[in-house]
Amino acid sequence: MASIELKAVEKWFGSVQVIKGVDLAIEEGEFVIFVGPSGCGKSTLLRMIAGLEETSRGQIMIGDRDATAEPPNKRGLAMVFQSYALYPHMSVRDNVGFPLKSAGLPKAEIEAKVEEAARVLKLNAYMDRRPKDLSGGQRQRVAIGRSIVRDPTAFLFDEPLSNLDASLRVEMRYEIAKLHQALKSTMIYVTHDQVEAMTLADRIVVLEFGRIAQVGTPRELYESPANLFVAQFIGSPRMNTMPASAVSSPGLPENAHTLGIRPEHITLVAEGSGHLQGVVDVLEYLGADTFVIMDCGPAGQITVRVNGDVDLRSGDKAGLSFETSKIHAFSTEGLSIRFRGA
Ligand code: ADP
Ligand code: MG
Repeated sequence: MASIELKAVEKWFGSVQVIKGVDLAIEEGEFVIFVGPSGCGKSTLLRMIAGLEETSRGQIMIGDRDATAEPPNKRGLAMVFQSYALYPHMSVRDNVGFPLKSAGLPKAEIEAKVEEAARVLKLNAYMDRRPKDLSGGQRQRVAIGRSIVRDPTAFLFDEPLSNLDASLRVEMRYEIAKLHQALKSTMIYVTHDQVEAMTLADRIVVLEFGRIAQVGTPRELYESPANLFVAQFIGSPRMNTMPASAVSSPGLPENAHTLGIRPEHITLVAEGSGHLQGVVDVLEYLGADTFVIMDCGPAGQITVRVNGDVDLRSGDKAGLSFETSKIHAFSTEGLSIRFRGA
């Protein structure tokens, strides 16, 4: 295990800057997730840590070692990709043990490490199968097994679950959480899926155009987003935003340009009362919850999360009452303004 520190790292592809000065200290044993929209630089940053991309400027520390110029195999990190890259002609057992065999370890030692990886990943029943006879989730576990046997100082995952169907993704997400509990290794995990980030991470790093938009625990990002980008990226359905001028409420900061409120912090009340007036546009019934999409005139379209069994129809009028301590205010530049609830 090791801590990993990025100091003012930059990546340039020719004259195009893709990583624009990232500072980040990852603690030993921490599960850190890089999240952000496609193209924001998540994979590039991970590949720089792995040594698969050269770092144009800045420094990468692994433990107390300057690893900036080290080749990948000297860094002691294990990278798990979205594509599994298993050897099709080899059994699961041989796939998992392959890195050890190439390194020339004694047979008994290889067997012990492969058994241990199989136990942690519950692969025992498939050890003699070929990859083609496994499901997508099982193949992904074999790929992870192959990295575990090398006792890496840290694991790097690049969207490892994005090839799997929705239910398998949820299952594998649970297994990766258990894996982190069992191994207690430093893990850096890249995803564009904020739900994956929220459920797995000790800390989330939100990237926007090659810069860190915010770093924090899932709860810190949900409760106190630093800016509009993070506010709207974290949370599902996304935070509602509206011009501050559309809501008349004493106690809002004067320099507020935009207000934000999450769907779960709004209650529907009688027409004529509350912070806003709206007309029901669409109801999205999900069983436990219903998302009510309201047309609120100058405030725009607002989503309200209510109980699944709500009795509403398109065209109904209602007031929207905000939980005032949960209102977010943002400046013209989109930065969060701290204030005591309106
Ligand atoms: P993400 O993983 O967040 O989707 P990437 O790190 O793959 O994003 O890419 C970030 C940006 O860098 C993108 O605009 C991409 O086109 C660019 N990029 C990635 N690799 C290269 C490369 N080898 N040459 C030039 N541009 C690249
Ligand atoms: Mg990527």
